[in-house]
Amino acid sequence: MNTDGLKCSGLAASARLAPERAAQLAPALHALLLRSHLLDGVSTDALHYWLTDAPVRYIRQGETLIGMGVAHDTLFLLLSGELSVWLESAPAPHPSDRRSAASAAAARKQVARIEPGETVGEQSLIDGQLPNAWAIAEQDCCLLAVPAAKLWQSMQTEPRIALNLLRLLSARVRKANDGFTEAVAQQQRLTQDAETDALTGLYNRRWMDRHYAHALRCQETSSRAVSILMIDIDHFKRVNDEHGHAVGDQVLFQVARRVEFALRPGDLCARYGGEEFCVLLPAVDLPLATGIAERICASVARQPFALSSGATLPVSVSIGVACCDQQEPLGALLHAADGALYQAKRQGRNRVMAAQRPVLI
Ligand code: GH3
Ligand code: MG
Ligand code: MG
Repeated sequence: MNTDGLKCSGLAASARLAPERAAQLAPALHALLLRSHLLDGVSTDALHYWLTDAPVRYIRQGETLIGMGVAHDTLFLLLSGELSVWLESAPAPHPSDRRSAASAAAARKQVARIEPGETVGEQSLIDGQLPNAWAIAEQDCCLLAVPAAKLWQSMQTEPRIALNLLRLLSARVRKANDGFTEAVAQQQRLTQDAETDALTGLYNRRWMDRHYAHALRCQETSSRAVSILMIDIDHFKRVNDEHGHAVGDQVLFQVARRVEFALRPGDLCARYGGEEFCVLLPAVDLPLATGIAERICASVARQPFALSSGATLPVSVSIGVACCDQQEPLGALLHAADGALYQAKRQGRNRVMAAQRPVLI
């Protein structure tokens, strides 16, 4: 918005716009007020009422117009300059200290920028509560300071102002909601990134450790059994050594797909370590879990893996199976499954071994 016609620097820090001064500024102010959201579509009479005897306030860059928690009874219409709205404020850093300036800015949460034609302070006038944000001048600012009484008065004669005010507030609520939705989505993305393995797209160990108990609670079943499969790719180091790390990554990805393909919707699969996968099978007893593990083992070994180079590569996995009561901690179950996996490796790989421990159900 062009505010060249508004030269407020000659005014005192707070000045009343005398009729002759108002007349001087009138054309530019008129244009600006007409374009302001609050006064959009109001009558010329109402505009004159706003301009007559209107206190103009001038604040310098960096000064606070509205302080958080500090009562005021004024609506400010920005005539020139720029304001920013902050949810928190930090003590102003020394101008020479760039680092503390940056950290102070980071500590405060800027939520909006106010440009000429826009208003600040209306929310406290409407709900009678103390401001919950700071309004600070980004540049030297010139503002029309409209006392609450004048605002209410002008609404009586010009209902359009009330409608505009509602629209303004509605826009702010929407913006705040959008900001909130985006913040939640970002938080979800961060959580997902932290709990997902980028290479295979599976959950990672952190997710399994954190959500084990919750995953079991979500099962609508009377069975208290839970089984786990520890799956480890055989001689995977050789794959890397002989074909390169990129081929190793392709193998990891494809093993993940074959494991997933063998599971039911309620089963949970995570990449638990470098070339190890962990499958959680709620409400599955040891014989059933062993059958599922056999199926996975066979599906990996049956068909060589197709590589992006066009070559194929035989791959196999060894699997340790364990079953216990859902009350037992994940660590105990993992320990048992790891022991069985170790046995499967020792006995020649490409096979399934079940933990020979009492089933506590
Ligand atoms: P074993 O049959 O006894 O399990 O032998 P192994 O070679 O599979 O096991 P070892 O623990 O000796 O080697 C695992 C290898 O997995 C070593 C490591 O470089 C590789 N690895 C771990 N994470 C990744 C990964 O993200 N990508 C690739 N390409 N390799 C990985
Ligand atoms: Mg391993
Ligand atoms: Mg291995």
